[in-house]
Amino acid sequence: MSFESLPQLDMDGVESTTLPAFAAIPRRRTVSVDVGGVRMGSDHPIVVQSMTNTHTADAEATAMQVAQLVRAGSELVRVTVNNGEAAAALPEIVARLSDLGISVPIVGDFHYNGHKLLREYPEAARLLAKYRINPGNVGAGQRHDANFATMIEVAKEYGKPVRIGVNWGSLDQQVLARLMDENAARGNPRSPTDVTIEAMVVSALESAAYAEQLGLAHDKIIISVKVSSAPELWAVYRRLAAQCDYPLHLGLTEAGMGMKGMVATSVALAPLLTEGIGDTIRVSLTPEPGASRKLEVEVAQQILQSLGLRQFLPQVTSCPGCGRTTSTFFQSLAQKIQDYIRDQMPEWKGQYPGVEEMQVAVMGCVVNGPGESKHAHIGISLPGTGEDPRAPVYQDGQLLTTLKGPRIAEEFQELLEKYVREHYGKKS
Ligand code: SF4
Repeated sequence: MSFESLPQLDMDGVESTTLPAFAAIPRRRTVSVDVGGVRMGSDHPIVVQSMTNTHTADAEATAMQVAQLVRAGSELVRVTVNNGEAAAALPEIVARLSDLGISVPIVGDFHYNGHKLLREYPEAARLLAKYRINPGNVGAGQRHDANFATMIEVAKEYGKPVRIGVNWGSLDQQVLARLMDENAARGNPRSPTDVTIEAMVVSALESAAYAEQLGLAHDKIIISVKVSSAPELWAVYRRLAAQCDYPLHLGLTEAGMGMKGMVATSVALAPLLTEGIGDTIRVSLTPEPGASRKLEVEVAQQILQSLGLRQFLPQVTSCPGCGRTTSTFFQSLAQKIQDYIRDQMPEWKGQYPGVEEMQVAVMGCVVNGPGESKHAHIGISLPGTGEDPRAPVYQDGQLLTTLKGPRIAEEFQELLEKYVREHYGKKS
């Protein structure tokens, strides 16, 4: 495992405590790749993508889930193409999305039989915006190269980019065995983990080189090398980033469920993103039974927004609450405002350009409330336990009004709506 790029040291070898300005985080230089009209690479914003978990052959369910993911903010959606029924359903999925007014690049995820499906279902090959190829799952021996070559030929024919997506759980065993043998012959062998990390990088880069040798353009290739532990993800992506200029798809594979998955992914992705590594991200959460798939999109957006790398929706700052605010009114107002903003965003995005930069504060009492509210564009400080039942509202740093009575929540939402209209409405 390599930690060579961990904390920055200054000239005296003292760990720097000064973080770079967020907006100034330099991206690792890459070529740009066009994925169905979404440009990916260091000259473009980091792209949020997601993946469906419906049976792709069920065109209606898949189209509905793609639509849900897109409405949540997914800019690219991947679907598994695991059999002929799935490949055959793609035209209907795209047509249903078009009926819903949704146009989004759909990426096909292929394992084992991608070479056959792409040849047997040319309409699927034409409609997909990108093919994901796992070099560990394209067959063994001579079939490996032949199957891989077929997929690259189809990509060339239809002008499509590919993602060479290596995964820890399905690493190309021939590459691993070769590197293990070489390692065993060394005087000072490296650890098996280190060799496995190296094998993942080698598998990705050798596959990319082979794709180029077959005639696929350099700017038609994206790479991912996913593992399920954060330190290994850092090691593998730092090595990969140093050895190529392909855009990198970043994600912690099999992140897990709920809070564990969100924390693990955030911890894993943040150091790499702050080093400028990563051009598109996916959060691989296991949804709770029956839960919406769109949480993975919201988490991905929040990771990028928290790092200051992209703005997707107004940021609601709220304090954690403490013994000074014993009512649940403050928590429900913070939740209500956050949900309201997220629900409004699809409409606001078109109507109120720049609204995603807005900062809103919902604070539990006067200790930090007015101060935090003054820093926000608009903020409310609710009365804490034993305080006067009054809620001062600050707008652009100035006291705007003090709300009282049973309609504080509704009146604050009305003030918020008014602020959005007046400050972000298109001037005619
Ligand atoms: S602002 Fe008030 S309620 Fe919120 S955490 Fe601070 S002291 Fe507690």
